[in-house]
Amino acid sequence: MEDLLKSYVLSQETYYQIRDTISQELSLGLSKSCERSSIKMLISYVQNLPTGREIGEFLALDLGGSNFRVLLIHLNGSPSAFRMESKIYPLTDSIKASVAVELFDYIVDCVDDFLKTVKISHYPVPLGFTFSFPVIQSGLASGRLVQWTKEITCDGVVGEDVVRLLHEAIQRKKTLQVECVALVNDTVGCLMSCAYEDIQTYMAVIIGTGSNASYVEKVRNIEKWQPDADETSDEMIINTEWGGLGDNGCIDFARGPADYIIDDRSLDKRRQIFEKMISGRYLGEVARLVLLEAVKANLLFHQPGRLVEAFTKEYGFLTKYLSEIESDTGKTHSKTRRILTELGVKDLTYDECSLVYKICRVISKRSAYLCAAGIAAVLNNMNRPEVTIGVDGSLVRCHPTFLDHMLQFTKKLINPGINIKMRLSEDGSGKGAALIAAVSIRKMH
Ligand code: BGC
Ligand code: MG
Repeated sequence: MEDLLKSYVLSQETYYQIRDTISQELSLGLSKSCERSSIKMLISYVQNLPTGREIGEFLALDLGGSNFRVLLIHLNGSPSAFRMESKIYPLTDSIKASVAVELFDYIVDCVDDFLKTVKISHYPVPLGFTFSFPVIQSGLASGRLVQWTKEITCDGVVGEDVVRLLHEAIQRKKTLQVECVALVNDTVGCLMSCAYEDIQTYMAVIIGTGSNASYVEKVRNIEKWQPDADETSDEMIINTEWGGLGDNGCIDFARGPADYIIDDRSLDKRRQIFEKMISGRYLGEVARLVLLEAVKANLLFHQPGRLVEAFTKEYGFLTKYLSEIESDTGKTHSKTRRILTELGVKDLTYDECSLVYKICRVISKRSAYLCAAGIAAVLNNMNRPEVTIGVDGSLVRCHPTFLDHMLQFTKKLINPGINIKMRLSEDGSGKGAALIAAVSIRKMH
């Protein structure tokens, strides 16, 4: 067992090494030779944190890995007067694997449906588009998709300006009076929405279906980007896209056999190496592959016929099982037993349950610690004494120990003199996009 898990139980030294590698990649990503870094360090064109006094009525779209939401946000001049209405629409596998026109027509149909259920006071209504994928922006309201992540494949979007695709779909609809004024990464939205409540927020991290972080950088440190002459702000939110860390091989020393298998079978081979080790889209699969190893080594489910489909089918073991299994606090392992019974593995011994629990714990803890290494690298580079970090995503929200492991380990890895807090973001993708839209409109007038 020790042998099997040793590729996933990394030493403190290894985590220091990962943190320092990330630090270097972050700096390289801001430099003139940024293409050598596996961390893209994308310019968000968001240069001002919210004041709390923003006003107006905004639509927001939230297109992430598993959900699509349309929101109407009322900013009424203070965080306590904030109001919001929203509706979730399914994002089916068939749409995720379709073509651009189909995806964007679907999005616009949903907006149209949503607008029938709410009351808007002014048309055209400004919209903030939270698009949770790597985008090279050329301004606040335009940007090209670099690549899909999270196993989405929809054709005809990579390389295109997603705001243009959205506007073309709006025009096809004729009757819709909506104008996209801001294109926003979810982590940038998360940062804005947390900063709305807590002015010390300079960083945001999401560990959900995918994973990413953004933070506030000094413009003078962004060697690869020149501000406009009339630009007054000396700060810029950088969307790191840390999920791509390792695409150049720089963290191969920390990868285990399961990580290589997952990447090999994925739709975007040799991309998002870090994300594939930590995020919800993949974590259940990492655990399944290690469980399978344990079965092969005769440590688990020795009785014949026990190796059921859930364990032999790719992605048959869901990430949410890790959360459930690890919340088995009593020593009876009743949840583990229940999940495995549902999966068709019956009559488990106590030792077998403990082993399943242990494997899940090793895998989720590694993810939390790797995230901590990433957060510490950003914080050490940023070098601010007090930082609140906005956090969001299914692992942070649903896993029993993930957030605490991440927080405690981040504290170990940051430089002395830095004090941190982590704060769950409430509706970052909606509220954040509306705040960015509000700031942009204020600038335009
Ligand atoms: C995307 C990021 C996004 C993250 C969290 C990643 O796959 O590349 O842009 O912020 O998922 O949703
Ligand atoms: Mg999301």
